[in-house]
Amino acid sequence: MEIEKLKDKLEGSIILPRDAEYEEARTIYNAMIDKRPRIIIKCINKKDVVKAVNFARENKLEVSIRSGGHNGAGLALVNDGLVIDLSEMKGIEVDTESKRAKVQPGRTLAEVDKATHEHGLALPSGIIGSTGVAGLTLGGGIGYLSRKGGLTIDNLLEAEVVLASGELITTNASKNPDLFWALRGGGGNFGIVVSFTFNLIPIRNVYAGPMLWPLEKAEEVMKFYDKITKNASNDLYGFFAFLTVPPVDPFPQHLQMKKVCGIVWCYTGSLDKAAEVFNPIRAFGPPILDFVSELPMPALNGMFDGLYPPGYQWYWKGNYFDELTDECIHQQVIHGSKMPTMLSSMHLYPIDGKVHETPQEDTAWANRGARWAQVIVGVSPNPSDADKITEWCRNYHEAMQPYALGGGYVNFAMEDDQGRVKESYGKNYDRLRKIKKKYDPDNFFHINQNIQPAN
Ligand SMILES: Cc1cc2nc3c(=O)[nH]c(=O)nc-3n(C[C@H](O)[C@H](O)[C@H](O)COP(=O)(O)OP(=O)(O)OC[C@H]3O[C@@H](n4cnc5c(N)ncnc54)[C@H](O)[C@@H]3O)c2cc1C
Repeated sequence: MEIEKLKDKLEGSIILPRDAEYEEARTIYNAMIDKRPRIIIKCINKKDVVKAVNFARENKLEVSIRSGGHNGAGLALVNDGLVIDLSEMKGIEVDTESKRAKVQPGRTLAEVDKATHEHGLALPSGIIGSTGVAGLTLGGGIGYLSRKGGLTIDNLLEAEVVLASGELITTNASKNPDLFWALRGGGGNFGIVVSFTFNLIPIRNVYAGPMLWPLEKAEEVMKFYDKITKNASNDLYGFFAFLTVPPVDPFPQHLQMKKVCGIVWCYTGSLDKAAEVFNPIRAFGPPILDFVSELPMPALNGMFDGLYPPGYQWYWKGNYFDELTDECIHQQVIHGSKMPTMLSSMHLYPIDGKVHETPQEDTAWANRGARWAQVIVGVSPNPSDADKITEWCRNYHEAMQPYALGGGYVNFAMEDDQGRVKESYGKNYDRLRKIKKKYDPDNFFHINQNIQPAN
């Protein structure tokens, strides 16, 4: 392999196992993942990405794509292969006139929030600031603004993509529309996205934050939550959670380390009316903690970042639900009550409202009939908890299968979820396979929730 020659051609850098930076460069968010790539190429522009792809193809190297490095399954890395690392590609341009942002793949959600918020704009994305915008977008993109503004992919207008052939192409609703369709939910299967152009929505401050109730009231709270969100306007978002109150300020001491249930709200309607909208919510068996108040949108998006720094053990599983039957709720509470560590949790993210306004066949993301995406997440700073958190997630997930819709959000999947990919794409799967055959016939990009090329 002519690594030295490649080094001369690149504007970015190459990191090999013998280099001092190697350990840091192969470290990703989930410390449960321990993969040793043969080569890491840190690209700084799209030309570097083209060169890295060509080099991998010519040298028959397996390739993984790394942007934010947050993928729970650790798909940013590949053992003994080449990592195309985009984390230093951090361009971002906000056009306030057209309300658009052009973002390179190395940006995190917090960085996008910061750049857009100063103009009173926001991109509907996820709930933890350190997550990469690239992987999140390509899998769909669920968060506080989903009911108001749709998924992140519903706000994607254009992407520049380096294909397995090394060709750099632009895709949007009229240029290479089949690829544009597939990118919106199909993950990293079709090429390396080197820039995303997003639509932004006008949002500055929101009325938001967590409300908690005792775990003993969880069944009642879940039923109330189901009812109130079913009839709510798209301005009201709230994800339901089982959690343990962290042993830190500002949480009152008598609640610290208690397992509870809660709803993290985000109201994007008129702030003058917010208190009124929350009257019936507060009246329902008053919460034991109420941190809902007016906040800048990035403060909400970063609210839990401190609790979940990089370097912890993570294992998770996802489900979709269209309804929460009494029996489903009963089982949720049984398993939610068994959270094995302080940071383990379960979230139910609403994916109705604006998400349901886009027809199912308009994007590869195939779950617009569902009302919720669930993530069951085992987290611990302690590597010796790895088995415990894995077992809890698997058991909880298994118990949900009689009530869930089948498949799960690909961004909440582990490597052992490859068997669920087809189900997760439902009726869109065959079309995805045909598009995969056209743009990546040899399955060059297969370190992902893999869609096999059609025969
Ligand atoms: C703490 C935490 C909170 C999260 N919260 C949310 C949330 O609120 N909402 C939500 O929807 N998801 C959420 N996620 C899931 C998140 O969307 C996925 O983990 C996603 O893969 C992260 O993207 P990344 O760029 O950081 O990933 P990476 O690990 O860098 O990449 C993951 C995969 O994405 C693909 N990919 C990444 N970049 C590119 C690119 N430029 N071109 C082509 N393919 C690419 C590749 O297949 C790659 O293997 C969360 C994850 C974590 C760990």
